[in-house]
Amino acid sequence: MKILVINAGSSSLKYQLIDMETEQVLAKGLCERIGVDGKFSHKSVNGEVSKDVELKNHADAVENVIEALTDKEYGCVASLDEIAAVGHRVLTAGEKIYETVLITDEVKEIVRECIPLGPLHNPANLTGIEACEKAMPGIPQVAVFDTAFHHTMPEKAYLYGLPYEYYEKYGVRRYGFHGTSHRFVTQRTAKLLGKSVDEVNLITCHLGNGSSITAVKNGKCIDTTMGLTPLEGMLMGTRCGAIDPAIVCFIGEKEGLSYAEMDTLMNKKSGLLGVSGVGSDFRDVTKAWREGNHRAGVALEMFAYQCKKYIGSYYAALGGDVDAIVFTAGIGENDGRMRASIVEGLEGLGIKMDAELNAGKCVDKVVSTADSKIKILVVPTNEELMIAKDTAEIVENL
Ligand code: AMP
Repeated sequence: MKILVINAGSSSLKYQLIDMETEQVLAKGLCERIGVDGKFSHKSVNGEVSKDVELKNHADAVENVIEALTDKEYGCVASLDEIAAVGHRVLTAGEKIYETVLITDEVKEIVRECIPLGPLHNPANLTGIEACEKAMPGIPQVAVFDTAFHHTMPEKAYLYGLPYEYYEKYGVRRYGFHGTSHRFVTQRTAKLLGKSVDEVNLITCHLGNGSSITAVKNGKCIDTTMGLTPLEGMLMGTRCGAIDPAIVCFIGEKEGLSYAEMDTLMNKKSGLLGVSGVGSDFRDVTKAWREGNHRAGVALEMFAYQCKKYIGSYYAALGGDVDAIVFTAGIGENDGRMRASIVEGLEGLGIKMDAELNAGKCVDKVVSTADSKIKILVVPTNEELMIAKDTAEIVENL
């Protein structure tokens, strides 16, 4: 069975075609600058192509994807009939849908109603779905929600200390994001530890351009750092993470900024970029720090320190009963120095890193010492495969 996975952003569309029998990626690619001009790159087991092409909208993007997948030279399917289903990454359906579902008009309506909870992503996800429905009639479309894994959080973890009416009226609560990634690494880690998923207690650290940390008890999320939106939690590439909420009014008033401008400031101009003044990419900030840039060094220290504090608080939330701390995503998988800084000083909790094992990029590997009470693992995430697996399960049961 072949599943096409689509991740539609506001001006981009990423895709992968996965063979479910072998879990092999048959093709992957990216449509960029949709609605601006257009750039398309595609790589399959048979060849690759990269070109500037007009992408007026997501429908154009999907058309290019289909052409590339069926191309005689660099394609990998003879016709669209070989594609069993399309799995879409969808940001949120609020509290209305958690599980992976076959997309119907009702599902689309719910995703539309939840646009206020995901103003950048939900409209793009919908556009991607509609473009695929049109271009691939009769092929089942499935939605996998980014918030789904976090729906098991108890009220004490997901409610904010605000008047309850705002939760009731507007759904203001913690939803959490990167759920597909946290779910994937939870399942993979359980396998690596030789346990069943409902037996593992983990602290999963997804550290990438966006970063979030999740406390997992018996395979289920009990708390996570991202909140109503992906702005809360750790400081990230361009996002400020958790700050004193009074700062919003304080800076807004001083600088005469509107709510929308404050939102942009906190989402796009803060984090590593805002503190270092260098950039949002971890490698750039690290390079600047190595060259003696003080603010870049402070930004990296903040990143490690904040992550350490969340690990400590989730250790407490899990009552100290933690099997492993798991690192994943661009920074978590690749930057051994940062992993070491994060867990440095946590030896008292039984968390001991093995410097040799931890060096550099690691794949599905234990990097803690043999006598570390809590193991430390590096497990590459694979959200696309998780989406494809969920999608396959839905179509197998149709
Ligand atoms: P992601 O959002 O998971 O794609 O991760 C992107 C982040 O990972 C960026 O900040 C990159 O700079 C960072 N990253 C990627 N590769 C490395 C590496 N080898 N060392 C350190 N950071 C990396």
